[in-house]
Amino acid sequence: MFGLKKTAETREHTGSYYAASANWQTAYPRLENDIEADVVVVGGGFTGVNTAVELVEKGYDVVLLEANRISWGASGRNGGQVIGGIGHDPERFEKQIGAAGVKAIYRMGIAARDIIRERVEKYGIDCDLTWGYCDVALKPRHLKQFAEWRDFEKEIGNPHEYRLLDRDELKEYVNSDAYLGGLMNTANGHVHPLNLCIGEARAAERGGARIFEQSRVQEIVQGQRVRVRTDEGSVLAKKVVLAGNAYMGGLIPKLATRVLPSNSSVVATAPLPESMAQQLMPGNVAVCDPRTALDYFRLSADRRMLFGGLSNYTGLEPKDLEGTIRRKMEKVFPELTGIPIDYGWSGQMGIGLNRMPQLGRLADNIAYIQAYSGHGVAPTHMMAKITADMIDGKPDDFDIFSRIPHWPFPGGKYLRRPALAVGMAYFKVKDVL
Ligand SMILES: Cc1cc2nc3c(=O)[nH]c(=O)nc-3n(C[C@H](O)[C@H](O)[C@H](O)COP(=O)(O)OP(=O)(O)OC[C@H]3O[C@@H](n4cnc5c(N)ncnc54)[C@H](O)[C@@H]3O)c2cc1C
Repeated sequence: MFGLKKTAETREHTGSYYAASANWQTAYPRLENDIEADVVVVGGGFTGVNTAVELVEKGYDVVLLEANRISWGASGRNGGQVIGGIGHDPERFEKQIGAAGVKAIYRMGIAARDIIRERVEKYGIDCDLTWGYCDVALKPRHLKQFAEWRDFEKEIGNPHEYRLLDRDELKEYVNSDAYLGGLMNTANGHVHPLNLCIGEARAAERGGARIFEQSRVQEIVQGQRVRVRTDEGSVLAKKVVLAGNAYMGGLIPKLATRVLPSNSSVVATAPLPESMAQQLMPGNVAVCDPRTALDYFRLSADRRMLFGGLSNYTGLEPKDLEGTIRRKMEKVFPELTGIPIDYGWSGQMGIGLNRMPQLGRLADNIAYIQAYSGHGVAPTHMMAKITADMIDGKPDDFDIFSRIPHWPFPGGKYLRRPALAVGMAYFKVKDVL
């Protein structure tokens, strides 16, 4: 497609700022023989790694299989924004999950961030976790929307304060003329996602999980115990959790038809002088605007501007990724005109048709989790927890999600992307109005 290209991938980490500043390089072995476990988890992003952490904490014997490197996918490439809430408008599914189910999803959305906080504290994970977040308004109607969001957070029992900011007040956090005001809270925040996920994998390993990298699962043979095969070995397990999300390809056709891998891209500038970082982002908060194809940005711990956006349903990245994001960034911060960009990268997130995470069972002993449809850094942690609880005999929260119906994308393998791209174009036009 014009102006777009396929992201070049290798089995090592993409050339991101995060990979260049990782505290540890993981080098777990390949799976090269036939082994057994209580549970095998497929996919080493936040979902899979945290499922492994939760399970070893409960005493299970766990094997984690990752096709590339731990956190190679979306979990190691994202904007690092830790945002509460799970999915969109669970009220739509009240018929299936009841009013109590809707309430429970809001409860889990509030608590998801606490899992990250607790995990970082418990395992001493060095990942620059910082609290503070602003939604920023480009239109007067966004400010009206923010007032509704603030009231809604109170209504669903969120104990954190959400504060509306006018144009001048916002500048105490985000010093840009691009915005009319904002909504500030300290419930959300930001993190170095790759360091968080690798730290969590190390916690799982310390708890006894056996982790294998560069070990792509090629086949799943169902049975009383399930055999999960890679090219060179296999795991025979009582239970399986599939957590490959947007990168799982066609391994399970039923799941592949329900998740659309969608692209988003991020750049990292050279470190800003301290005075400039302080001038532009005095609140050191994470920032999002409310458009469908939103801009999101924040400072890294070494004062780089990490600016992301260009989300699209084609699954492709812009040919000139750095130039395209630079133009957006310089609109927000003209002071950054000409600043060197040290890193630019893209990743795939899993989008589902109804924009609620997909949790369910392919068989009594095979569970899956996918399609966070946008922000997943905090929700992955909650979905991992409730999946581990389900395996441990407490399925109530998991089954709230498993009762939500998910449909395949219309248009089949070839037409679903164009159909969705048209849908997104419609929402982009609406955003401009
Ligand atoms: C550029 C970008 C920016 C984003 N920004 C934000 C943000 O700021 N805040 C936010 O909350 N969310 C953000 N997201 C979304 C968020 O990153 C994801 O929702 C979340 O990381 C999903 O985690 P996951 O573990 O489910 O999937 P992934 O992290 O994609 O992990 C899946 C893993 O499974 C492995 N795998 C796949 N198939 C197999 C197989 N057959 N065998 C073995 N392994 C396999 C893959 O190699 C991969 O490592 C962003 C996403 C992208 C791409």
